[in-house]
Amino acid sequence: MRDIPPVPDHGIELSGGALALDFANTVGGSHVRPTHDHLQAYADIVAFAELAGGLERSAGERLRQRAEREPTRARAVYELGIALRESIWAVFSALASGEVPRNADLDLISDAAASAAARSRLVYDRDGIGWSLPSDGDVLERPLWEIARSAADVLTSTQRDRVKQCASESCEWVFLDRSKNHSRRWCDMSDCGNRAKARRFHAKRQAAPA
Ligand SMILES: [Zn+2]
Repeated sequence: MRDIPPVPDHGIELSGGALALDFANTVGGSHVRPTHDHLQAYADIVAFAELAGGLERSAGERLRQRAEREPTRARAVYELGIALRESIWAVFSALASGEVPRNADLDLISDAAASAAARSRLVYDRDGIGWSLPSDGDVLERPLWEIARSAADVLTSTQRDRVKQCASESCEWVFLDRSKNHSRRWCDMSDCGNRAKARRFHAKRQAAPA
């Protein structure tokens, strides 16, 4: 079991552009030494999935109740979730820097995505036909399956070429650059982008003759 970094003083931000990347960005600072972590327990994974669009509220409520009834299993699924998050981040971070992702990380994503695929059904809705996980069953791993499938979808599509890592030295967030000319550099312009701008401004002022 790992030492869990403190709870952040702000809510979860969704700037990754896909469920899996938003999940990778639920820690602050570096992944080796995070300054904070939104995911402190299994229920936080459920809350993330509800917020980020990977789970309907009714299913989330049932999962929370089940986790309360089965705390040991919920704890194990939480640990698996954290391992999945670190693998997802490692793979996307490697791709963003033109490196080869590790097989162990791809394997972890594969296992969860395969579990999702084994239970999915083709369902017709307004947007057409797509894979859907049945909401019955209340399997505790369900949010992780949705997240792994999102990761696999990005990795096996042209979106893969749009994966970037924030240009800030103190931020390792990953995101899909959907800008027309592939020019997005920051996870969030109002946060990391502004901080970098302020730093450049101060450096210029200090360098300027008095
Ligand atoms: Zn950033």
